[in-house]
Amino acid sequence: MPHYKYLIVGGGITADAAVEGIRSIDREAAIGLIGAEPDPPYNRPPLSKGLWKGDALERIWRKTQARGVDLYLGRKAVSLDFAARAINDSQGARYTYEKLLLATGVTPRRLPSASGVIYYRALSDYNTLRALSGEGRSFAVIGGGFIGWEIAAALKMNGNEVVMIFPEETIGARLYPADLGRFLNRYYREKGVRIVAGGQITALEKTPRGARVQTQAHGNFEVDGVVAGIGVTPETSLAQAAGLKIDNGIMVDEFLRTSDPHIYAAGDVANFHNPILDRRLRVEHEDNANVMGRAAGANMAGGQAPYRHLPFFYSDLFELGYEAVGDLDPRLEIVADWKEPYREGVLYYLQAGRVRGVLLWNTYGQVDEARKLIAEPGPFRPADLKGRLPAA
Ligand code: NAP
Repeated sequence: MPHYKYLIVGGGITADAAVEGIRSIDREAAIGLIGAEPDPPYNRPPLSKGLWKGDALERIWRKTQARGVDLYLGRKAVSLDFAARAINDSQGARYTYEKLLLATGVTPRRLPSASGVIYYRALSDYNTLRALSGEGRSFAVIGGGFIGWEIAAALKMNGNEVVMIFPEETIGARLYPADLGRFLNRYYREKGVRIVAGGQITALEKTPRGARVQTQAHGNFEVDGVVAGIGVTPETSLAQAAGLKIDNGIMVDEFLRTSDPHIYAAGDVANFHNPILDRRLRVEHEDNANVMGRAAGANMAGGQAPYRHLPFFYSDLFELGYEAVGDLDPRLEIVADWKEPYREGVLYYLQAGRVRGVLLWNTYGQVDEARKLIAEPGPFRPADLKGRLPAA
């Protein structure tokens, strides 16, 4: 039975960053990593962005092996015995640990009783979609969030026909103000993507060609393939069965410890308190995975650093792109400072005179300034924010 000073469950960005964090303090001790995917840790963002724009697949790998880690891949941790400090995996192996990190991430939500849908998340999904796609092929992309708008653009840029179906009125309705959302619907249509906003799917059937997607009021679509990005749920089952504290993810303290002092959690699955926003967050983006993973690893190895980072996130929409920090909730008061409407500018999301979030639309290199602004007590009036970023 292998014994590890540090055992990591999960094989994504967070897990690899944790190895880096451990090794920044402890160069020698044995580290084990159990990952459900067959591949070693890789960077996920290129799967819906760079790989469709010509970036080389070889560049996604995190090269975790080079840091001296035993990788157990293609298997899942199925039970956690915290009293014995042991994990059992789906292939019947048992591991013991001194410190455990749960970096189990999220699982894509599924449509009821639909087979043959690509729930886009992993490298295997990229490989499946890449093999199916090509000049003149056609796809239904379900969901109007990150996966929806990034994959719709990726497929279209590679010669495929795309219909995008989502329940809201606009692309990104959970993040962007309505006018920016309406612009995005128009922009995607101009790029040749068919937009079915307010679309409800009533049936999804496999056909010899691929699939038939039936909608309530927008007709049926015969396509070669269906991709869905309809949100995710945190993978907490292992932690829950072991009796750890769960509430929209695994609850952690400022040092990223769970309710068991030998067990840490980080990345998409971890629910943590952010002192700048003064509320608990669970963040499903790369920067959080990297910085939180490193912090958890370092703390497992004896570091004492509280996690106070306010993560940023970014996305691409054809030629448009952005970086963003904080709460992007369209129900907040939004001050738009456009240099060129919908092409370049900064949107400030305010609540009770404080900036809660900043959307840097085609505006780069301002993330730290945006963080500082969010940390300022204010109060801010809309007029105070015009021209505030980019900082001189
Ligand atoms: P998402 O951004 O939460 O978007 C989910 C979308 O699916 C929303 O438009 C949602 O509508 C819609 N939806 C929900 N249930 C549906 C249903 N039954 N039928 C049709 N549409 C439905 O999630 P995602 O796009 O699946 O992305 C998955 C995760 O990966 C997210 O955590 C995301 O942050 C992450 N990711 C991040 C990036 C990035 O940082 N650039 C890129 C890709 C993925 P409602 O709003 O009405 O529920």
